[in-house]
Amino acid sequence: MKIRRYIGKDTQDAMLKVRLDLGSDAIILNTRKIRQKGFLKFFSKPLVEVLAAVDEGATQSNLSEPGNGRNKSAAGVKNSITDKKGILKEPVEERYDSDIGELEQKVKNMEQLLDRIYKQMQPANNSSIQSSMQLENPMDKTSKIIQVFSNNLIHNNVDISIVNEIASEVKSSVSQSASVNDIAAKMYNRIITLLDKPQPIQLNNDAKAKIIVFVGPTGVGKTTTLAKIAAIFSINYKKNIGIISSDTYRIAAVEQLKTYTDILGLPIHVIYSPEEISDAISNFSDKDLILIDTAGRSHKDMQQFEELKRIIELSNPEEVFLLLSLTTDYNVCKEIINSYSFLKEYKILFTKLDEAVSYGMILNLARIANKKLSYVTTGQSVPDDIEVVNIDKIAKKLLGSIQI
Ligand code: GDP
Repeated sequence: MKIRRYIGKDTQDAMLKVRLDLGSDAIILNTRKIRQKGFLKFFSKPLVEVLAAVDEGATQSNLSEPGNGRNKSAAGVKNSITDKKGILKEPVEERYDSDIGELEQKVKNMEQLLDRIYKQMQPANNSSIQSSMQLENPMDKTSKIIQVFSNNLIHNNVDISIVNEIASEVKSSVSQSASVNDIAAKMYNRIITLLDKPQPIQLNNDAKAKIIVFVGPTGVGKTTTLAKIAAIFSINYKKNIGIISSDTYRIAAVEQLKTYTDILGLPIHVIYSPEEISDAISNFSDKDLILIDTAGRSHKDMQQFEELKRIIELSNPEEVFLLLSLTTDYNVCKEIINSYSFLKEYKILFTKLDEAVSYGMILNLARIANKKLSYVTTGQSVPDDIEVVNIDKIAKKLLGSIQI
């Protein structure tokens, strides 16, 4: 079952989008009017939001066939792989292979181009000049190659301080005769080390329920992401899931989560004060996984964090996921990370990669927060649009746009 949200200027418009995207078999789960945000927009005509679902059929869905290896999303973007323990593993994309091939070809072209330039620079009949050029050129060449890769990183919005850090480390670690491939490999390894191995959810081996809290600003995608993870662990891996919503500031948020839990047949507790969380957790003691949704906080209002701190203190989660949208301004993301620095440990979960302009933010924010990465979400579709962060793909994308 694939669930999606559609927004239109009226019901007809929203339904048209549903039909175009999901076809005539789509089931309408919920329809409601929504107000646009912003003072002036509040007075404009409300929009219509339609929550629709379509059954993809047993052969197509990665939910109904855990471990079968692959799943293609509606947009044809990604595949997910599950292992025998039912852990969502790094996705495989067919286009990675072509990306790698393309990158290798470009690196090869660049090497040939640089060799041609150096040959042209060397006077044919002057052996003394030639030998001095040979002593001087290799270092020049190394710097130039590093510069080309650094420019690609900058082009992909990697923070200049991180680019300089990578460049100087690579420069000091490569020999003067290093080839383009050697340098590319060093740059790649440095990026991989900075991103670090992602840590998706691993269930406890004992009977204890694993408690996970989702935190982050309003609108970042906490509820949708929680629903994706709940659906995958419940349907794919047949795990027992309990959901707790503490986002009682927005009735719509609770309703949204209830819609998902109704469809998935999962139990939900809504708590109205942090003190109620202990009872809610006790009621779910037979579960494998307890997922807790929290209200979004303005990162500027530290007062609002008191309640969140209490929820975390009382629930004592094994994992906290801080959600950061890749569409949020870089400086705002830095402020958000700063405002959640009261959390001793958390994993970063990036949302809205499908709307992001580059991969640079992922490296920047991983470096600044200095925390492990986990998942990245790639669209609104529950549960398809989520995958484990693929650091290999990110590193290649960041280095790869070589224009020669
Ligand atoms: P919350 O306030 O943090 O709980 O955020 P919601 O889960 O309510 O999501 C806010 C909006 O972002 C909704 O319209 C979601 O459908 C949308 N959303 C969530 N994840 C993604 C994503 O990966 N990509 C895109 N484009 N939209 C997303």
